[in-house]
Amino acid sequence: MHTLAGVRRTKYNQYDSIARPIQSWLADRGVDVRFGARVVDVDFDQSDPNDRRVTRLHLRGRDGETTIALARDDVAMLTLGSIAADAGFGGNDAAPELIRDRRDGAWALWDAIAGKADDFGRPHAFYNVDENKWESFTLTMRGRALLDRIAKFSGNAPGAGALMTFFQSKWLMSIVVPYQPHFPDMPPDTYTLWGYGLFIDEKGDYVDKPMAQCTGREILRELVGQLGFDDALEEIIATTDVTPVMLPYASAMFARRIAEDRPLVLPEGARNFAFLGQWVEMPEDVVYTVEYSVHCAMHAVYRLFGVEKPIPPIYRGLAEPKVALGALRSAYR
Ligand SMILES: Cc1cc2nc3c(=O)[nH]c(=O)nc-3n(C[C@H](O)[C@H](O)[C@H](O)COP(=O)(O)OP(=O)(O)OC[C@H]3O[C@@H](n4cnc5c(N)ncnc54)[C@H](O)[C@@H]3O)c2cc1C
Repeated sequence: MHTLAGVRRTKYNQYDSIARPIQSWLADRGVDVRFGARVVDVDFDQSDPNDRRVTRLHLRGRDGETTIALARDDVAMLTLGSIAADAGFGGNDAAPELIRDRRDGAWALWDAIAGKADDFGRPHAFYNVDENKWESFTLTMRGRALLDRIAKFSGNAPGAGALMTFFQSKWLMSIVVPYQPHFPDMPPDTYTLWGYGLFIDEKGDYVDKPMAQCTGREILRELVGQLGFDDALEEIIATTDVTPVMLPYASAMFARRIAEDRPLVLPEGARNFAFLGQWVEMPEDVVYTVEYSVHCAMHAVYRLFGVEKPIPPIYRGLAEPKVALGALRSAYR
């Protein structure tokens, strides 16, 4: 990210390369991780504005409703919202559902606590699904036909290139080809790539339908057209499975807002709790990035536990003439 020349990639997908190793590192140290559990509400004691505390978490899980009482030295860090909240999945012959009713619970916790203090933010500022949605898709390719063509067309071996954006496409479609295999347990001679469209209510250039209404195969047809591989269309369709995924909050962190819409990582007087994720206020930092959530967590952990280590500074691309010039060129292209 520091050169804006591309994106640094892990060997496998982020779940296998980052989440799973961290999870087993934590499990080895006896951390109690509850899967399939949702925090549905949090009790606060805010009677002293200089000593505000979380006192209890309310959970809903496989065993029904439970609570966790916090002792004086316990700390709660709460991730508010999620880019992937209410993701709807389609298939080769099905368009994904656009879920509008905040059903999977990733926003419900913030909804539940927002009214408990003036400085806990306003989640509803980020709920305009029609402004924020976009759609992604993954291809599962049996055989190298499409993969090798894309490598030749782009000049990049899988994993070596950044995003490939068809900038004149009506859906503003992009694809990324990761290192293969992307999943450690991919079946032999099976490959994958990921793509997305931003203008999903527009009709395509090769498919006369808005992307949001397209099945996986129709999205693949549009992609093949954008790539100019129509001569191989039949073979590609026969050997590729497509999973379209509708993301109602994909760009909700860029929504118009006022400062009070996002709470601080550590609200004034918070002594044993912090807010994390893409919807907390960290002035000058760049949302959407994993770094943003990591920065929040560093602020929270370092300040609540008195860790005396420097927090890496925020990268300011526009202060670097070469990057600023590149950005300007792209903006006016
Ligand atoms: C398609 C796509 C592509 C992306 N590409 C990039 C990229 O190239 N580079 C980059 O830097 N970033 C990228 N991002 C963004 C990046 O994935 C996010 O910024 C990052 O995952 C945010 O991490 P997080 O821990 O704050 O939240 P999340 O990863 O959203 O995790 C929050 C977790 O909390 C859980 N949760 C929520 N509410 C509750 C609750 N009440 N109780 C229990 N659990 C709950 C959710 O289920 C979720 O598992 C991309 C995102 C998407 C969707």
